[in-house]
Formats: sequence, structure tokens, C-alpha cells
Amino acid sequence: MNKARVPFLDLSELHAECSEQLAEATNRVISSNSFILGKEVEQFESDWARYCGVGCAIGVGNGLDALHLILRALDVGPGDEVIVPANTFIATWLAVTMCGASPVSVEPDRDTFNIDPNLVEHAVTARTKAIIAVHLYGQPADVDALAKIAQKNGIYLVEDAAQAHGAKHKGRRIGGHSAAAAWSFYPGKNLGALGDAGAVTTNNEALANKIRVLRNYGSAVKYEHLLQGFNSRLDEIQAAALSAKLPHLDDWNERRTEVARSYNEALAPLVGALDRPGSCALLSVPAIREWAVSAWHLYVIRVSNRDRAIEFYSARGVETSIHYPIRPSRQAAFADRQESTTERSQFDDSDQLLSLPMGPHLNQRQVDQVIAASKELFSGARESRLNTKGITDG
Ligand SMILES: *Cc1c(COP(=O)(O)O)cnc(C)c1O
Repeated sequence: MNKARVPFLDLSELHAECSEQLAEATNRVISSNSFILGKEVEQFESDWARYCGVGCAIGVGNGLDALHLILRALDVGPGDEVIVPANTFIATWLAVTMCGASPVSVEPDRDTFNIDPNLVEHAVTARTKAIIAVHLYGQPADVDALAKIAQKNGIYLVEDAAQAHGAKHKGRRIGGHSAAAAWSFYPGKNLGALGDAGAVTTNNEALANKIRVLRNYGSAVKYEHLLQGFNSRLDEIQAAALSAKLPHLDDWNERRTEVARSYNEALAPLVGALDRPGSCALLSVPAIREWAVSAWHLYVIRVSNRDRAIEFYSARGVETSIHYPIRPSRQAAFADRQESTTERSQFDDSDQLLSLPMGPHLNQRQVDQVIAASKELFSGARESRLNTKGITDG
């Protein structure tokens, strides 16, 4: 196939836009001879807190640690239950088991993919200590409804914001809508470091101080250990790189939004257009709540006959991915876990999910290429200006 490739993700494109600042940042740290918990981390923490509109940000090693340290700081431990979404990256669940607590799985809302507050309400027991809301694929979860449930039951609301850099809930950026929010700056996230990195944001200063201590061996003063802590510090090079990239985040998110808008316009009319045996039907496109501004970390559709869709896109140069092919509850890692009866009857759509290329690296020609392939796949229509010779679509 002689079609140009549409990569799912391409960081080289983005790094080219800030390569000088990145090189300068890295060199600055090397010549400072300070690599751990220095002024670069302090600077990024204050930049990130300001960007998110919250009182405190604490740099940590990665997104999983950010979640884990929040739960530890809230004294989540053995015997406690933490309500988590059924569909999320496994880190959300692992943070709970790292504390010795039990994850309780709740179904997502079918339209938004985010945890369904009505079902959360039913999952609360006397042992529930916290709810983790994941802003999945970049769209804010319904934190108002969830905060109400948390307050009513005397439990904590925590956010997994690893996919939601810059997303807004009712006009306010994500990061301060709960007890604390966990961030990942894994390289592929909307704001990514040059390796592993993470942060916690919160408006609760006491909680922030406890997390600062926990991330650094339980110590606030060198060689004095108040708590049995961890080693999970954001390092100076990553902090400097993040400060160099942060000024680009809004522009990058705007470009993601443009891509999503183009996809939505072209694909929404194709939902349910083609549904004969053996063909691929488009079952849904992302639905965004009127009060939400998505960070568009991912653009996820539902399709029937997914294997065929993946092959079809691939033959037209379009790389796709799946988030996530296997739910945490069905992973071998959780094989010993006891499922509740409601959980066993949960509707699992993970064999329908398909992520299309999404990111600021995409140009108009590439977006058009994804759209043309989608039209051909989901409506059976071929656009003659496309070179589709040699492709059999069954
Ligand atoms: C990426 C991600 C994490 C984990 O972040 P790491 O920095 O890789 O540890 C947690 N939750 C969600 C939803 C994520 O997408």
C-alpha cells in the first residue's frame, strides 16, 4: 500500500517545536549539579499549581505513585474499599492494592466512558474509604455528583487526572475538584516528560505536606524520618523539561480539539449506517457533556467486528490502538480477587473500543486520511480521489 502512514502518536513532531528549550533546560540542570529536589522541581510545582488553579502541587516519580501517595496520605489501608472505574488503566487499581485496600469496580456511563455516579452510590458500603474518579480519555468525570456522594457518606473523592491535562469542568481546570488529583507526565500524555514523572495537586495544605514527606523517605528534615515513606521524587531534569513544555500545552490541546471536531463531524453521521453481517458498524463516537472541556487525550469509538476494522485502517496507513483491551478485573494480576455479583454481570464493551490517531502531531492531510478510511469502512462508500486499489474490503 502506497499510502503515507498516519502514526497514532509521534513525539518527534512536538519535541521539534521546543527542542531548544528542552536542550537549554537539560544543560541548565547539568551545570547546576543539583539533580534531586532542587529549584527546578520547586519552579515546576508552582507553575503546575498555577496552571491547574490549585493551591499546591507536589512533584513525584510517576502517575501510579501520585495515586498511591494520595491514598496513603488519606490513611487508606487493609480492610478499606476504594471505588474505582471498571474501565481504566490498571494503575488506578494498583494504587489501591498497594495500600492493602480492595478495589470495588463500578461501571462507566455508556456515553462518556466515565464512572457512573448513580452506580457509585449503590457501591458504597461501611468499608468504603474513597472513590477514585478517572477523567478517562481526557473528559472530566462528573465530579460534582461524585463529590456530593463522597460528602454524604463521609468518604474521600480522589481524581486520576493522568489523561486530563488542561481539561475543564464547568469552566475550571481539572486538578482541584477533590481531596487531591494525581497526574502522570509519562511521555505520551498531553504534557509529557522525557521519562517517568508525576505530580499531585490539592488545595489541602496539610495533605500536601504529608505527601511531600511521604515522597521523600518520610522525611522533612534530612535524616529525620516521621513516617515510613517512599522514594518517589520528581527529578530536576524532568521538572526542567516539563517547565519547558508547559507553555505549549494549551496550543497542543487546541490542536487535539480541532482533530476531535473534524472526526466528530465526519463520523457522527456514520453511526449505525452499515450493519450487515460480516461488515463493521460504527456503534458510537465520543459524547462530551455540555459542562465539560475534554483534553482529548484519546479519541475512542465503538465498533463491531473490531479486528477487521483494525486491519482495514492499517491497510490504509492508519495506526489504531485499544484503551483498554482487557479490563483490570479480567487481568491475570487480579485473578485471585473476588468479584461481586453485580460486577460479574457488568456490561463489558472492551471488545468494541477502538482509538483513532489523536494528537497535536496530526496535520490536516492525515486527519483527512483517517476520515476517508472511516467513511469507506463504516458506510461502504469509496471516495474516488483516494487510491484504494488492491484493497479488498469484503
Ligand atoms: C498513564 C496513566 C496512569 C499511570 O501513570 P504512570 O506515570 O505511567 O505511572 C494512571 N492512570 C491513568 C488513567 C493513566 O492513563
